[in-house]
Amino acid sequence: MSETANTKLIQGRTGPWEVVLGLEVHAQVASNAKLFSGAAVGFGAGPNEQVSLVDAAMPGMLPVINRHCVEQAIKTGLGLKAQINLKSRFDRKNYFYPDLPQGYQISQYQHPIVGEGEVIVERDDGSTFTVRIERLHLEQDAGKSLHDQDPNFTYVDLNRAGTALMEIVSRPDMRSSEEAAAYVKKLRTILIYLGSCDGDMEKGNLRADVNVSVCRPGAYEKYRETGDFSHLGTRCEIKNVNSFRFMQQAIEYEARRQIEILEDGGKIDQETRLFDPNKGETRSMRSKEEAHDYRYFPDPDLLPLELDAKWVKEIEASLPELPDAKKQRFQSQYGLSAYDAGVLIADQAKADFYEVAAKGRDAKLVANWVTNDLAAKLSAAGQDIADSPIGPQAIAELVQLIEEGVISSKIAKDVFERMWAGEGAPTDIVEKQGLKQVSDTGALEKIIDDLIAANPGQAAAVKDKPQAIGWFVGQVMKATQGKANPGTVNELLRAKLGL
Ligand code: MN
Repeated sequence: MSETANTKLIQGRTGPWEVVLGLEVHAQVASNAKLFSGAAVGFGAGPNEQVSLVDAAMPGMLPVINRHCVEQAIKTGLGLKAQINLKSRFDRKNYFYPDLPQGYQISQYQHPIVGEGEVIVERDDGSTFTVRIERLHLEQDAGKSLHDQDPNFTYVDLNRAGTALMEIVSRPDMRSSEEAAAYVKKLRTILIYLGSCDGDMEKGNLRADVNVSVCRPGAYEKYRETGDFSHLGTRCEIKNVNSFRFMQQAIEYEARRQIEILEDGGKIDQETRLFDPNKGETRSMRSKEEAHDYRYFPDPDLLPLELDAKWVKEIEASLPELPDAKKQRFQSQYGLSAYDAGVLIADQAKADFYEVAAKGRDAKLVANWVTNDLAAKLSAAGQDIADSPIGPQAIAELVQLIEEGVISSKIAKDVFERMWAGEGAPTDIVEKQGLKQVSDTGALEKIIDDLIAANPGQAAAVKDKPQAIGWFVGQVMKATQGKANPGTVNELLRAKLGL
């Protein structure tokens, strides 16, 4: 059963502390066009090549909502088991940035398209906890200021301006940097399954603002009981973290920083901070704005967004099987542990690969090969399963050879190495290398008879110490280069040694 997050104590000079984390994830909507214009969205275009007059905020231009982006937000909301608001509204969030030519961001403030939902998150040990989702809203991304192109000038690239983002806001339900990373991983998996965001963090298509605060043990439980935030410490927001490693480093550093200030008798200023990966520290960026600083007001160029309930139902009916459902199915259909099922479903391509390989085969054995041996090879080579030189059919064939007793599990490791090296299909490798398990009792009997004749002392000793049979098994294996069927060898030895 899923539960709340685990508390992790941090020892300070004056006693233990706990960390409380809430995340605002910005996920770029997978879409060919922007949220309010028909300009293309894509990575790698030349500067300002994907900018319409709307994105450049030319006077008199009018935004027109992109239906596909709305559909993606609804899909995502449904995937987060969240309430879809049939009526929502776009607001202007006013601030001045050189890369925001409108002078405001079109966002959703009081009436977001998606309300409360939840994400069930897997920890590394296979246990789970629930993160409550507060809301998801649609908004525009800003452009980019480039400070490193010229010693005297800053350049502005508006390609990203107006791109659709889903801002997914969680409740402060994570209690360690590991849990925060696990949450973003799970969220990313759900988005990729849904096809609503490609989850590419390197390209900045998924980035997180992390709210960090610390409190004394017991305070968080009071907050959960009452919903009263005053039980929690003042939070700082670390902006735009775009890797799991940086996120964990930033949280660890920030929690320590806050504890030191509090233990010195100081107080935490609510502010926005930036993580510097080179120095491994966060530093102040600006004092936190309050909502009223932005002077939110309804965008007069856009009508309230009204959704047809029937359309939402249609989208719901078209949703793919999502990670949690797939995990359940893998456990019941294939008899996998929650842990193995969790590892497989974390990557859709891996789950698909597994299902092809497991068809008609020993499903647990296939899971072992995919999650252990193959995963280790791929990770060492820095490859995704989609580019795996060993396909699912080949894994199925390898497992079949083991199941049918043609090769032992030990020899299978050798065959696997050769498969990885590109030596061909497992059956061909076994044939060519003469790796077939020797189950032919005649051949094995001859070896065993010779062995007993040459070692009468050992043979006599086995009668008093039956576990010494292992020595004989080892000798037979050596004589057959590991190809003897261990079961057959044991049987024959027991009979011949009179056990
Ligand atoms: Mn935002």
